[in-house]
Amino acid sequence: MGKSSTTTSSDRKLRPQTEMVHGGTLRTPFGETSEAMFLTSGYVYETAEQAEARFKGEDDGFVYSRFANPTVRMFEERMIALEGAEAARATATGMAAVTAAMLCQLSAGDHVVAARALFGSCRYIVEDLLPRFGIESTLVDGCDLDQWRAARKPNTKVFFLETPTNPTLDVIDLRAVAEIAHEAGARLVVDNVFATPVLQKPLEFGADVVVYSATKHIDGQGRCLGGVVLGSDQFVTDHLANFLRQTGPALSPFNAWVMLKSLETLDLRVRRHCENAIAVADFLGSQEKIARVIYPGRADHPQHNLAKAQMDMPGNMIAFEVQGGKEAAFRLANRLEVIKISNNLGDAKSLITHPATTTHQRLTPEARAELGISDAMLRLSVGLEDAADLTEDLGLALDAA
Ligand SMILES: *Cc1c(COP(=O)(O)O)cnc(C)c1O
Repeated sequence: MGKSSTTTSSDRKLRPQTEMVHGGTLRTPFGETSEAMFLTSGYVYETAEQAEARFKGEDDGFVYSRFANPTVRMFEERMIALEGAEAARATATGMAAVTAAMLCQLSAGDHVVAARALFGSCRYIVEDLLPRFGIESTLVDGCDLDQWRAARKPNTKVFFLETPTNPTLDVIDLRAVAEIAHEAGARLVVDNVFATPVLQKPLEFGADVVVYSATKHIDGQGRCLGGVVLGSDQFVTDHLANFLRQTGPALSPFNAWVMLKSLETLDLRVRRHCENAIAVADFLGSQEKIARVIYPGRADHPQHNLAKAQMDMPGNMIAFEVQGGKEAAFRLANRLEVIKISNNLGDAKSLITHPATTTHQRLTPEARAELGISDAMLRLSVGLEDAADLTEDLGLALDAA
C-alpha cells in the first residue's frame, strides 16, 4: 500500500486546511497530482501465499472493496486528519453511518438515551428500529442535563445526539453530556452534520464517536450520498470495522473521490456559508412579517453563549416562523426564486423546507409541538450565492406574500 497521510521531513503537524488538501493522499507510481479514482471491486495477488497472508491480516494490502478501497481509504484518512480522530470508516449514506455506529456496539438488553430533537430517520432508528431488537431507548430534552442524568440505567450503553438540532437549532452542551454518559459507562455518539467538522469537533469535548452524512456540506454540491463514522482505534477495531465488513454498506469509490476532492474546499465553503447565514438571519430578524428567527449566531438564541464556546462559527442553518401560519409559510416559499424548495441541506444552493409537512411529517402533531416545530416554521439552508441576492429574494417574496 502507498504511503498515506501527509509526510514532511520533520513529521511536523500540519494545520487543518493543509490536511484538507493533502491528507490521506495515496499517490501511485504515475505521480498524478489529483487523487486517483480506483473503480475496482477486487484486487489480484502476486501469489497464492500473498492471498493467504492478506486474508490472515499479515499483509496489509487490499482484499475486496466491501472491506476497503484505496480511494475510499484516502477519503477516510483525510477525514481522520480533519477531525483529529484515530480511525474512521466511510459508508454509503449518512443513515448507514448512524445505523452502523449504533448497531455495531449494541445488543439485545442494552439501553440507549437520545435527544428527542433528531433528524427524522435517526429518530426512527432510536425510537422504532432498536426496540424491535430488544434495545430499549429513552428520549430526552437534550438541553436539560437533568433529563440525561435521570434517564441513565445500569444497562445504558450509548448516548446519542445532534447539535445544533434539526430543525429547531437547539445547541446541546457536548462536554456536559459526555461527562454524564461516561459516569454511566456509556459512549457518546454525536451526529455532527449541522455543525460540520470545520465548526465543531465533538471529540475535543469528550464525545467517543462522531458520525456524518457526507451528503451534506462535505460533498456540498448536491451530487453524491455518503457517510463516515470516526472514533478511537479501539472502537473501530473492536466494533465498527467487522460490522461494516460483514453487513456491507460500503461507500462507492466514485462517491468517495467526489467527497475527497470536496474536502479541499470544505473550510472555504463552510465559512462563506456562515457569513451568508449571518447576513440572512440579520435580515429576517428585521422583518415585521417574520415572527421569530432561530439562529445560534443571534444574541436572542437561548444557547447563544454555548454555541460561541463550542462552535467556531454559528453554521448555515436558520429556522424562522412566518406570521400567519402554514399558509403564509407556503406562500413565502412558493414566491422565492433564487432560494429553492428542497429538504436537502449544506448545498451551494440555498434550500428551504417546511419541516412540519416534509422532514418531520412522520411525527404526530403532539410530538412536533414538543419539539417546537410549528406550522409557521421554515428551515433555510443558506448557500454560497451572494448574500444580497438571498436577502433580496426573501424581501421580494415577503412583500408579495
Ligand atoms: C441528512 C442527515 C442524515 C442522513 O444522511 P443521508 O446521507 O441522507 O443518509 C443524518 N443526520 C442528519 C443530521 C442529517 O442532516
